[in-house]
Amino acid sequence: MNAKEILDEVAAQVTQCEKCQLRFSRKNAVPGEGPANSEIMFIGEGPGFYENEQGRPFVGQAGKFLDELLEMAGLKREQVFICNVVKCRPPGNRDPEPQELQACNGYLDRQIEAINPHVIVTLGRFSMAKFLPQARISSIHGNAMLVNGRMIVPMFHPAAALHQPSLKPQVIEDFKKLPEYLAQMKKDQKEIPVFEQKEETSSDHNDEPPAEQLSLF
Ligand code: SF4
Repeated sequence: MNAKEILDEVAAQVTQCEKCQLRFSRKNAVPGEGPANSEIMFIGEGPGFYENEQGRPFVGQAGKFLDELLEMAGLKREQVFICNVVKCRPPGNRDPEPQELQACNGYLDRQIEAINPHVIVTLGRFSMAKFLPQARISSIHGNAMLVNGRMIVPMFHPAAALHQPSLKPQVIEDFKKLPEYLAQMKKDQKEIPVFEQKEETSSDHNDEPPAEQLSLF
């Protein structure tokens, strides 16, 4: 199967999925969307009200802000793949639970493998924890690092900046770094400081990351 076929298959499976209790609170599953050859992939937390209604990621207020942020980074939504760590809406927009994250993880892994993006941007602490389980987002947001050979850039979730307007300038600054990171990955990823970390499944992300993780650009 080519990348597009794999993404289509994942999307079809997600819409029928009964692997966790979030199937009971979904109106529409939200597998994610974007080109199969996207150079950048954005991974958020989970669908909210409007996403659940439409079956599309980031279509509410946070989505509008994400569109603005993409534009500031010289990107268009049609160029990037956008999805979440859980594909069905947690009731009342509560945090996803560990067993839900674990149940849904295989779909995200297959999407990442199929797209094989140059850069993965995590939006919020739950997607960051997939790659950097011990990191604290307030310490490492906007910085790039290689984790198991992939460039990961942790960012605040756009909704966090809407709830806490003082974060907005920082979120904008972080997004403006993306073209530089993308160019760096295309040019020669050997020049990027590397921190190799074994992938962990723990969702514990309350501790400070080891210092090596902070050796960035
Ligand atoms: S959140 Fe993921 S694992 Fe749970 S029912 Fe939806 S698609 Fe399946």
